[in-house]
Order: sequence, then C-alpha cells, then structure tokens
Amino acid sequence: MPRYYIWTIGCQMNKADSEQIACFLEQAGYSSTTAAEEADLIVLNSCVVRQSAEDKVLNKLGSLKGLKKRNPSLNIALTGCLVDSRTDELKPRFPWVDLLFEPQQWEILFQWMGNRGLPIKEKQMPTPSHPQVSAFVNIIKGCNNFCSYCIVPYRRGREKSRPIKEIVCEVEELVRRGAREITLLGQNVDSYGHDLPSKPELADLLTELNRIEGLLRIRFLTNHPKDMSHRLITSVAELDKVCEYISLPVQAGDDQILKAMRRGYTVEQYWRLVEQIRLSVPGIALSTDVIVGFPGESEAQFEQTYELLRQIRFDQVHVAMYSPRPGTIASTKFEDNIPWEEKQRRRTKIETLQREIATEINAQLLGQKVEVLVEGKKRGKWQGRTRTGKLVFFEDNADCLGQPVEVKIEHASPWALQGRRV
Ligand code: SF4
Repeated sequence: MPRYYIWTIGCQMNKADSEQIACFLEQAGYSSTTAAEEADLIVLNSCVVRQSAEDKVLNKLGSLKGLKKRNPSLNIALTGCLVDSRTDELKPRFPWVDLLFEPQQWEILFQWMGNRGLPIKEKQMPTPSHPQVSAFVNIIKGCNNFCSYCIVPYRRGREKSRPIKEIVCEVEELVRRGAREITLLGQNVDSYGHDLPSKPELADLLTELNRIEGLLRIRFLTNHPKDMSHRLITSVAELDKVCEYISLPVQAGDDQILKAMRRGYTVEQYWRLVEQIRLSVPGIALSTDVIVGFPGESEAQFEQTYELLRQIRFDQVHVAMYSPRPGTIASTKFEDNIPWEEKQRRRTKIETLQREIATEINAQLLGQKVEVLVEGKKRGKWQGRTRTGKLVFFEDNADCLGQPVEVKIEHASPWALQGRRV
C-alpha cells in the first residue's frame, strides 16, 4: 500500500485543504505516515503570511532535497500560499519538487497523479469519512483588499466564492458523517457571494445552513470591519445555530496607522460596529487581531491601540509584531523603523492587559451553567467549547463525544474553564 505524508503550516484554510487531500488519498488506497522518509508521496501545504512561516517552508523544502536524491521515485507536491502564479520562478529554485499547484486547484493534482500512474480513484475531492465534531469548510478564497502589510492577495489571488448549493451539500455530507459544528472559512467572509451570479450574501448562506438537520452550531471566520453588513449581524441574532462569537480584526487603534495599513475604516467606525453588534446580540464574544510596531507607530499611537483594547474588552486578542513581507505595499513604501525590542515590549504590554481582561470575563462564568459541544478528550478529560468559543474541560465516564452537554463552571483561567457535568 503506498504511503503519503502531508506537512501543513498556516491558517485553518490550509488545515481544511490538507484534511481534504488526506481524505482523497486514503480513498485512493494510500495510508498515512508521520515519517517523510517512509512516504511514496509527500505533500507540503505552505504558508508565507509571516516571514517565520516562509522560513519554515523553505527549511522543509531544503530537507526534502536529500530524500529525493536518495529515492528518485519519491513524488513531492507543493501547494499553499508559496505557490502562486509565479510557478515558473519556483520550479528552477526547487527542481526536486515534482508538482506545484495553487490552493484548491485539485484538477491539477488529479491530472498529475493520473499522468504519473499514481493511484487515483475519483477525480473529485471527497468529504472526510470521519470528520471532526467541529469541521472547517472553505467558502471563499483570496482577497481583494490589499491591506498594506498583507501578502495574501498576491499569493491567494482575488476573491472567489463557492456556490451556496455546493457548500450546503458539503455540510450536509459532513453532518451525515458525524460533524456537529462547522466553521465557514475565508480571508474575508464578509465579501462572500459578490462574485457569484445571483450575488448572495453570507447571511443567505447562513440561513440555508441553519436549516440542516443534525447540525448544531455554525461559526464563520474572518470578518473585515469595513465589509460587515447589518444583515449579517441580524442573522447572528436571529438564526439559532449561528454562535454568539465574532472575530473582528481591528489591527490598530489609531486612524493614521489604520490609513497607512489601508484598512478602510476609522476607529470611530469600528467602535460603532462593536456597539451595534453588542446591542443586537447581547452576550456575544468578540475576538480581534492587532499588529504592533507598524512602520512609524509612535508611542502615543500604540497607546491609542492599548486604550481601545482596554475599553472594548475583547474575549480574545491575537497580537502580532509587524514584519515586512517583500512585495507588499508597506514593505516598499515604509521603513521598518520600530526596533524589535520595542515591538516585543508593546506586544507584551497588550498580552498582559488581555490576560487581566480575559481573567475577569471568564470569572463571570463561575457557578453558571453553559452548553459545551464536546469535541474530544485530553488528559482524561472531555473538552469542548461554549457557543461563545470558550474552551471547557470536565470529567465524565459516559461517552459525550459530539454531544451538547450542560456544564457548571467551577474554575476559570484566562485561557480555559473547568466544570462539572450537570
Ligand atoms: Fe490580508 Fe487585508 Fe485581505 Fe485580510 S483583508 S487577507 S489582512 S489583505
């Protein structure tokens, strides 16, 4: 039986793609291995959003050169964000890689496997036969926004939405095979549908998915504050399966920096959006992303970001230190002039603040009963999430996998909750 090895780095969209590739290979008769040297086929799913991720991909590619030399019949395929329209440039750099294909260009993968006489059963991507309780589904790929620091639009191309019918079929199949929660993925899910003939919105897709029997929860990632519609907020409030959780990257709390980032909104507009969401969906959890040390970010501008986070009190904050990505607008227009130590100081200051805020928010759940959708077991305890995305652990001898369970919270930390099944 031929063996495959998949190496994945990057966002949930890459992980979802790799799961599909694994499922396709297994249906074609491959078995998985965790050792690259044992594989007949290696697939690298790359990410270049941060320099550190790109460096890891290049290291991994380098380590495969020797393997290919020792075993010339080994097949190596490279996909993910490193592969874009410039495959002609990549080919001579990595001659030991047999196939380069852009994310989700499955036809190219099928054709290549067929040409090489590799096992291939069906020329379409199957749905995983044993999906996780919480599964990911890509609904739109690419991005049209060109935020000045971001490489995604250059690597993932322009936005391309999947038709509603196709997504509904995939989710129905996932639910039939055991998934209970789905997270719809896209670089900017708020743009969903504008490129389709009938121009549906994300709210229309949520309405269709909300009807699927057996599906308990629906989430979606990532939103763009400038594109989030009032209709979408109303759907979160009205559709019972759509969870009370929204990720809304703010990136900075200063208008000048937001302009230099080309984010397309002001701090005031962001505030208004948060207020509108909280008014429409009481108790909603909000998470955000922030970049510190953007070129020219003064101490006062950083403090504006800090103050915004202190006042909004997000449930979760992901902080990144700015690092220039060659080819982006920011890397050609601005000098990366904030010292690395200063970026680190700013990141640590925000992380400390967020730890305090998350501790206080989570402590409010002590003694309360919450619904936890159980996703698996870790160190003898069941683990799952609340509708608001909080990680909860509890002990129980019964098989709780895939079930919504009521848990009374007894311990709270900034990162997770512990409780007892009611
Ligand atoms: Fe990048 Fe901006 Fe698009 Fe997000 S919205 S993927 S940050 S360009």
